[in-house]
Amino acid sequence: MLHDISVSNHETSDLGSSIVMKETWDTRIQRAERLAIERRDSAELLSFYAALLGAQKQVYEQLRALKSWLPSGSLERDLPVLRTMLPGLLEIVEANAPAALASEARSLLSESQSEIDGMLIEYWQAPSDVQFFAKAFLQPYASWLYESGAKPDRNLVEVENRCPFCGGKPQVSVLQIKDASSDSGGRDLVCSTCLMSWPFRRVICASCGEENPDKIGYYHAPDYDYIRVEACDACRHYIKTVDLTRFGFAIPLVDEVAAASLDLWAREHGYTKIEMNLLGI
Ligand SMILES: [Zn+2]
Ligand SMILES: [Zn+2]
Repeated sequence: MLHDISVSNHETSDLGSSIVMKETWDTRIQRAERLAIERRDSAELLSFYAALLGAQKQVYEQLRALKSWLPSGSLERDLPVLRTMLPGLLEIVEANAPAALASEARSLLSESQSEIDGMLIEYWQAPSDVQFFAKAFLQPYASWLYESGAKPDRNLVEVENRCPFCGGKPQVSVLQIKDASSDSGGRDLVCSTCLMSWPFRRVICASCGEENPDKIGYYHAPDYDYIRVEACDACRHYIKTVDLTRFGFAIPLVDEVAAASLDLWAREHGYTKIEMNLLGI
């Protein structure tokens, strides 16, 4: 079913469908709802993701609506305001998530303030893709930091394959048509924490920086011809790339979740994802 489509710089693109949609919480939610109908094999996953995105949107809008308060970028300082928004997200997760996650949400709802603060600060300073609640809750906060111009206070290393704004790992890679002078050849990485994107050279491993094209393989599944796995044989890590020049209506963050069959393939072939998505895939 899956096949190696060659390892080279040559990539086909259909310039005719290069419509790049402006991504907002609403476009993400709509895309997840639509894919939940179209992709029956991932329907449950996508319906939950749509609900989760709705919960994240609620956090984001509550933050934006505060007229006399802007975040400082120091999570510790912002927590007194931010933490009041967590129960709303937990309730939505409890009502929509698979049983195990729903029960975790329920127990967090009765957790002490210091436990909750500790969990959020730990993620902020030492992020891990298995910390579902902190990651889900802090994505809208970090997005709002970016938009409101606050500098995130995180002690994370500044390297090329980390978000230049907040230091987060890349969640998904995106190909799109940009002006010809762009150094990255039209490739961006999307941050797993603040969800902004930054340009990143095209043929290079987003984990270890391997540049030898013979070490980087591209794999497609026929049912998602605009999404591919980019797997590195030097460090055995992979990331998925959503090609907006082939399908301009994709919302990378969401379509990446839908194409879970590609992750299954990558895992079976011994590759580890650079950053699991919120659905644990
Ligand atoms: Zn970021
Ligand atoms: Zn690598």
